[in-house]
Amino acid sequence: MKSLTDLTFDNRFARLGDAFSTEVLPEPIAEPRLVVASPAAMALLDLDPEVAEQPVFAELFAGHKLWSEAEPRAMVYSGHQFGVYNPRLGDGRGLLLGEVVNAAGEHWDLHLKGAGPTPYSRMGDGRAVLRSSIREFLASEAQHALGIPTTRALCVTGSSTPVYREKRETAAMLLRLARSHVRFGHFEYFYYTRQLDQLKQLGEHVLNEHFRHCLEQEAPYAAFYREVVERTAELIARWQAYGFCHGVMNTDNMSILGVTFDYGPYAFLDDFDANFICNHSDDTGRYSFSNQVPIAHWNLAALAQALTPMVEIDSLRASLDLFLPLYQTHYLDLMRRRLGFVSADDGDASLVERLLQLMQSSPVDYSRFFRELGDSAPEQALGRLRDDFVDLAGFDAWAADYRTRLEREGGSQDERRARMHAVNPRYVLRNYLAQQAIEAAEQGDYGVVRELHRVLSRPFDEQPGMERYAERPPEWGKHLEISCSS
Ligand code: AMP
Ligand code: MG
Repeated sequence: MKSLTDLTFDNRFARLGDAFSTEVLPEPIAEPRLVVASPAAMALLDLDPEVAEQPVFAELFAGHKLWSEAEPRAMVYSGHQFGVYNPRLGDGRGLLLGEVVNAAGEHWDLHLKGAGPTPYSRMGDGRAVLRSSIREFLASEAQHALGIPTTRALCVTGSSTPVYREKRETAAMLLRLARSHVRFGHFEYFYYTRQLDQLKQLGEHVLNEHFRHCLEQEAPYAAFYREVVERTAELIARWQAYGFCHGVMNTDNMSILGVTFDYGPYAFLDDFDANFICNHSDDTGRYSFSNQVPIAHWNLAALAQALTPMVEIDSLRASLDLFLPLYQTHYLDLMRRRLGFVSADDGDASLVERLLQLMQSSPVDYSRFFRELGDSAPEQALGRLRDDFVDLAGFDAWAADYRTRLEREGGSQDERRARMHAVNPRYVLRNYLAQQAIEAAEQGDYGVVRELHRVLSRPFDEQPGMERYAERPPEWGKHLEISCSS
């Protein structure tokens, strides 16, 4: 275990120089206090969870202190926002503090979000509010616990510094960890500004530090792009299988590592709705739940365009064409497991599709459905779940086909429950739960967010005493409008 002060830094991205990022010091927030920390994320830096209680911890992650080897920099990037190219984005309110090397030799980016103005802040104040910092913290750690690749969150620090959004709020900082903060938009920036040497330099950095195995391929950049397609297909399959709606799939919010990146007005579905739009500002539903699949494909095409100086167009096209079939394979595989199937059958895709159609027209809680399906023997479970469906004849027909399909799997009910519970969470980060934790934290009570984080870090386990976090959301909780302001 390491003490807070002896982290080892190796700032590879900073060494790329001023064409890639600008040196900026964090601007501290007043009266810093620890809101919540993640012991699992701390372990990635070899930190003992107890160091979170030391005053220096909150000071470091609120911009009051800095390691001497840290080299805080704001990264430049651009990207397509809601389908429109924005030539200059960049870290407007976050800084890459540096890269820490852990005992296993892994590099982890320390990114402090809400660290004050930078040359990329445009009209913004460079701040993040407590509300959005808690939301990103909870989602990062919950997503990880579900087995969905994601950036991680080390901690949130709160403060008394005022910040003005729709109303007066307080500033907070989130310490985000990722193996890399390079986004699709980084490549787009150098491509559209015709800085082709820098584009190549960025590509070399990414290959050397993150896709080293691609260097052994005949065409390393082509292999890199193909792998981004593969990783993104797997990521989106997990989002769709678990009902995660990102809300702002702009290309500057897409990680080249295929991890969930930049949590904004996201939501996990309560009642299943393929057309669900979680972002209050998304009037046309560009980023609706079911659109996430074609949008990921669109975003990958935007990345391909930026790689045309390095990769043959035919090769980019061939890799892009892999997206949909790869997505479908991963998605179906996960949905089979969610339904308790071990083997694959030709009829499975249609069984999944029929179930979702029945859910679409009924008030069925998406997450609870799968958990309850595994709770008891099929006949009892289906009998109980039936009550939530409007089309009872349709459900009965589906249930009969499901039971027939299940008979082919064999095994006892105990085995079925164990394998289903291992993939179907009992605890899901519902918007209303996050909202309750935020409201308590805004009153200075951090107990709720800490407890919720603890529960969500073991989403598949029964946790006696924590049942309230697994309940159906109240009606008001299903229709929260999450604003983009953060
Ligand atoms: P986001 O919607 O958080 O992905 O941010 C989109 C862009 O706006 C990024 O370049 C951010 O750095 C920038 N941005 C968002 N909020 C602020 C803010 N309060 N101050 C400065 N820049 C911001
Ligand atoms: Mg962003």
